[in-house]
Amino acid sequence: MNWIVPLADVKFGVEEQEAVRAVLESGWLTMGEVTAQFEMDFKAYTGARHAFAVSNATVGLHMACLALGIGTGDEVIVPSLTFVATANAVRYTGAQPIFADITSENDLTISLDAIKQAITPRTKALMLMHYAGYACDMPAILQWAQEQGLMVIEDAAHAVGSFLQEKHLGTWGNAGVFSFFSNKNLSTGEGGMVVTDDDALAAQFKLLRSHGMTSLTWDRHQGHAWSYDVVTTGYNYRIDEIRSALGRVQLEKLDGNNARRSALSARYRELLAELCPALGLPFEGHRGISAHHIMPVLLPRGAQRVRFMERLKEQGIQTSIHYPPVHTFSAYRQTATGAFNLPITDEVAAREVTLPLYPTMTEDQVQLVTLAAARALEC
Ligand SMILES: *Cc1c(COP(=O)(O)O)cnc(C)c1O
Repeated sequence: MNWIVPLADVKFGVEEQEAVRAVLESGWLTMGEVTAQFEMDFKAYTGARHAFAVSNATVGLHMACLALGIGTGDEVIVPSLTFVATANAVRYTGAQPIFADITSENDLTISLDAIKQAITPRTKALMLMHYAGYACDMPAILQWAQEQGLMVIEDAAHAVGSFLQEKHLGTWGNAGVFSFFSNKNLSTGEGGMVVTDDDALAAQFKLLRSHGMTSLTWDRHQGHAWSYDVVTTGYNYRIDEIRSALGRVQLEKLDGNNARRSALSARYRELLAELCPALGLPFEGHRGISAHHIMPVLLPRGAQRVRFMERLKEQGIQTSIHYPPVHTFSAYRQTATGAFNLPITDEVAAREVTLPLYPTMTEDQVQLVTLAAARALEC
């Protein structure tokens, strides 16, 4: 398809090209100085005490679960309105994800009341997801989790550049995980970052990321070590220097790109309120500063979503759905012990459509999409 307005778009400039070229010329491709620098930059940006660059956010979530000691027999409360990786990562450890509903049609993040209803003696942790970069109710959720002795992992895949009370999302819980997948706000193709303020967790992350080995190729190359021990069953969840180089440049551009996303989202809100008043616009007046990863809207009750999306497609406009809820997938339905009671998730997931949003989008394109949506709604 040759979209007039694609759902998302990434543009790399000469800065990225030069950074990648420098890595290729250096001849050192994995876990070297560039990755260490990327991690330093990311710590400085987020305020996290520790940061570990990984191959992607999915393995980062897996590592976070493992480092927190989550395993067979444990339950982890997760939203269903998320990308399936959130729940899959829990399953990798043998633990069971337990789905909790979102807050409302305006706040698509996990509901603390629903979390309270989902808790059992087996609950070990919560895995939260900051939808579109909008913050979950961290102060209330964390306070309650602490009282209950539960750990908190933040799936911050949407939230690079999101803040609540001036604290970066992903740095509130025990561990936070960011995605640098192609269409995310900071893009390295595949890639991710795990952050924590906890020194013991950080030590686990370092081991788990690299085969459980006590010294790394880089240390040996530097002449710091001759051999190594393996102290746990680790993985190869590393990133490479090429992606870290891309990530460093992308991090420098992040604030500018996110400001652009924010301005375009605001323009969407103005125009949609005026021209498509029947559309729901979630996160109106939401807490914190969002990274505006995506632009979700809710169709009126009873509207035909496929028809709406087809009409936009006919006009060259790409849309998407965030998300088909995880509890409705075959792989998750089958293992359900009881019926899922997620009425708000079901309602929102049936009506949600994601409109195009990316930093190089123009205000004219926002208007084009809005007008097309207004026409499509009259079907
Ligand atoms: C993209 C995404 C992930 C997975 O990220 P990868 O880097 O592709 O593994 C996990 N959770 C959410 C909410 C995401 O949007």
